Amino acid sequence: MRQRNPRNPLSSSTFLYTILALLAISILTWLFITNDKQEYYTKTDYLLGTYVTVRVSGDKTSPVLLANAAFKEIERIDEKYGNNKGIVEELNASKGKWIEIDQETAFLLKSAIEVSKNTGGAFDFTLYPIIKLWGFDDINNEKRVPKKTEIGKALLKVSYENVEISPDGNKVRLLNGAQIDLSGIAKGYAVDMAIMKIKSIDEKATGFIDAGGDIGIIGPKYGNRPWVIGIRHPRSESADKVIDYVYMYDGSIATSGDYERFFEVDGIRYHHIFDPATGYPANNGVISSTVIHKSAMLADAYATAAFVLGDSPGVTFFPRYGALAFLVREDLSTFKNKGFEVYLSK
Ligand code: ADP
Ligand code: MG
Repeated sequence: MRQRNPRNPLSSSTFLYTILALLAISILTWLFITNDKQEYYTKTDYLLGTYVTVRVSGDKTSPVLLANAAFKEIERIDEKYGNNKGIVEELNASKGKWIEIDQETAFLLKSAIEVSKNTGGAFDFTLYPIIKLWGFDDINNEKRVPKKTEIGKALLKVSYENVEISPDGNKVRLLNGAQIDLSGIAKGYAVDMAIMKIKSIDEKATGFIDAGGDIGIIGPKYGNRPWVIGIRHPRSESADKVIDYVYMYDGSIATSGDYERFFEVDGIRYHHIFDPATGYPANNGVISSTVIHKSAMLADAYATAAFVLGDSPGVTFFPRYGALAFLVREDLSTFKNKGFEVYLSK
């Protein structure tokens, strides 16, 4: 009896080739699909008084559509909360009368009040009379050093405690001649809202949004890699020179610096971040402040406060509010909250 060979060499190699071919096809398909996913679309536009960049890739939606939806949302917030328009203009002209507000405005104002309280008033969104005086508002472009008496008079109107929200959250009034300016928080809020908009269309979209140094992560690069964010060297002519790198998979990071908007008189630099205690540009040796927070709105506001507070004791309590600060001083020495270092490596 002939022994049957259980292994047929021909059919086994055919089998092998079939497997290999299938494998190759699936790898190619996978590459094709993931490649499609990894395509990032970048768009930059001038909004909220700064350059806003959206870099996004969709999981099931075109990145162009996602970026456009994000910009539409940022435009909406710019119109609603920008200086000299929308609710800010209405409130600043209200002369202490109650003004009706919607839920979104109540949320933003309550958030601003919360940061003001948590920072002992270092963040104060009622600085508008001071900002106008120095010419840092958008209308009055004449920048100048005001007289001490003018500053003293304007300071009388400044306190976040002058902003009263009715218990039902439907109305707000400004007491004692207070006027508001949401520039220290609105950019971050716009980033948060634009990310929410993108996620509502395509939950697994990835990328980031950068609104003039307020950066929110939509999702990790290619789904699993960190975005590498350079913290700008505060004394370099070139915007590309970096003092440190931060690696972010999610959350937000915001930087405030004295190099962004300033003028000089007799060799003294007067910049746009004011100490609400004095009415003068904050002057405690900090030249750049960066804050990491889950929310871009809060990263933005705490970064402004960090610039005013400095580090002794200053921002040492920030981690209690979910904020991690990184300060650069005049001599380029740095201070970091414990925990910030986690973001300095991949
Ligand atoms: P930028 O990204 O322009 O540096 P910031 O988030 O640091 O913006 O906010 C600075 C702006 O906020 C100023 O232009 C001014 O309108 C307003 N501002 C200045 N000082 C303060 C402060 N201590 N608290 C809140 N808002 C401030
Ligand atoms: Mg800010």
